Amino acid sequence: MKSSVTDSSPVAVENLSKSFGREHTMVQAIAEVSLQVQAGEHLAVIGPSGSGKSTLLHLIAGLTSPDAGHVAVGGVDLASMNDRRLTLFRRQHIGMIFQSYNLIPTLTVEDNILLPLLLGKGRSRRDGHIDVLLDTLGLTDRRRHRPDELSGGEQQRVAIARALIADPTVILADEPTGNLDSLNGQKLCEMISKLRKEQKRTIITVTHDPSVAIWADRVLVLRDGWIVETLSTDSYSTSKELGERFLEVLSRDAETVA
Ligand code: ADP
Ligand code: MG
Repeated sequence: MKSSVTDSSPVAVENLSKSFGREHTMVQAIAEVSLQVQAGEHLAVIGPSGSGKSTLLHLIAGLTSPDAGHVAVGGVDLASMNDRRLTLFRRQHIGMIFQSYNLIPTLTVEDNILLPLLLGKGRSRRDGHIDVLLDTLGLTDRRRHRPDELSGGEQQRVAIARALIADPTVILADEPTGNLDSLNGQKLCEMISKLRKEQKRTIITVTHDPSVAIWADRVLVLRDGWIVETLSTDSYSTSKELGERFLEVLSRDAETVA
């Protein structure tokens, strides 16, 4: 992974493969996936349930190790680090957002957001940063609340703030609207899109939902672990159109495989 393109990309994935189980129970979750994300780009990976979306994000985050291939974040090959360094690296360079928010119930909104800094170093340096995040995400009057006192949309916004607090190289979002109703889901997408533009964030979102993917710049279609198509969202004026294209790509490949 020495090409200059690779080195300058926030995330570069090369020929990544990962399977689970063995012999007749073996599942190829990710198959020879290569992708790159440019600084400030929002990439979506869309695929049906079981297509390997979460596995791909976990590989990019270094939470799972690949059978083959490489992942580089900020030009650093994840395989070159031992577990301890990888943990520190992840805390500094990767912000994760999950479908289920993963907030700590006993901590306030503020402490949940600051958690990545409390675990690492540099809290004092970024103390003012939290006020900006709370304001941007509409959470200022919730900072002393606990997660169970918040709506689903508010809890997910706290999770986003927590993913952003350490100024990571990349934000990885796994079905971030999966637990929200469609109105709150769209509001959340709008907020993520605004953050990306204003703060020039680099984001990878995985989803099965075209109305989430349409907010990205570029959409990769994942099917049975393979990237089978790249779509530019500029070519689609509605998520319905994008969704129709997505279904077309899936059925096209189903025919090819059959
Ligand atoms: P998605 O997020 O798109 O729903 P996943 O990445 O969770 O898909 O899963 C892809 C495939 O890999 C599925 O068939 C799933 O059952 C399998 N898989 C994922 N994680 C594991 C695991 N830890 N052990 C065994 N099989 C797994
Ligand atoms: Mg998943």
